[in-house]
Amino acid sequence: MRALQLIEDRNLEIVEIAPPPPPGPGEVTVNIRAVALNHIDVWGWRGMAFAKRKMPLTIGAEASGVVDAIGPGVSLLPGQLVSIYGAQTCGLCRPCREGRDNLCEHVSGVHGFHLDGFAQEKVNLRARLLVPAPPGVDEIGAAVAPVTFGTVEHMLFDNAKLEPGETILVHAGGSGIGSAAIQLAKKIGCTVITTVGSDNKIEKAKALGADHVINYREDRFEGVVRKLTKKKGVDVVFEHVGADTWAGSMLSLRRGGRLVTCGSTSGVSTSMNLMMLFQQQLKLLGSFGCRMENMADAMQKMARGLVHPVIDTEVGFDDIDTALKRMEGRDVFGKIILRVN
Ligand SMILES: [Zn+2]
Repeated sequence: MRALQLIEDRNLEIVEIAPPPPPGPGEVTVNIRAVALNHIDVWGWRGMAFAKRKMPLTIGAEASGVVDAIGPGVSLLPGQLVSIYGAQTCGLCRPCREGRDNLCEHVSGVHGFHLDGFAQEKVNLRARLLVPAPPGVDEIGAAVAPVTFGTVEHMLFDNAKLEPGETILVHAGGSGIGSAAIQLAKKIGCTVITTVGSDNKIEKAKALGADHVINYREDRFEGVVRKLTKKKGVDVVFEHVGADTWAGSMLSLRRGGRLVTCGSTSGVSTSMNLMMLFQQQLKLLGSFGCRMENMADAMQKMARGLVHPVIDTEVGFDDIDTALKRMEGRDVFGKIILRVN
């Protein structure tokens, strides 16, 4: 069977590997259907000096698949479409037992980054890390539930505790998580301000529900945000850009506002005005991954037609380099989906 493996930095190859053995107790063999690409794939492909990992490494951190075979003690049925949790967690520690796997005390790593990922035809996985897709959710919806929609659900509702009627600034509305955040915030009745990097993304962001769209290459977003909110600032900033936007994000918050971040695509280090932090009584919230329930919640919202995955393109194994380069250049609107089977 085929797998897409990183051989060395910026060098991906399609390789033939042996199919997995029959599933053991608590395990499921999953036929992978779709892999959604994320910025973590770009980081992995470019090379990360600090990441402990072995090469070759099968890529793909976020995916859906169909149950092919089940091991002893598994209640999922063959043929069931599932969404796959992106990290290998222990299932035994207190956070895992409470469904908060993203706080696992003994996590083995993130698939596609530290551990082999999902860009392969079949893989054996623990049944507890699979979330069944409800009727009405297709292979692509299930593929974007773990990282794209799950992460955003966790950021907005568990961490930032976003409430109806609040105003939120969503950075990079054309990114996968940005396009999810616009929809999820709008659907509970928030005013959504978002940023994009080119004029051709403005109408697309508005179509997702954004009330105001700022081209950050033309205007300083923090200035526009202060104008739009009559100098008050927003209740919540949804961050994932990092170094390039951090200072402006702090300036965009109202007194007592919350900044929630799950990434730093423009760089991992920045400086911060501490006086602004305490005088303005800002709350900074780091967020990574999601709870199992966030994936189920996201898919329920898709099934009810409240939100939908925003797809830039679908590609095959042969097009992966072009896809990652486009993501690196931010030349996308929504998700790039890698079709596996
Ligand atoms: Zn655990």
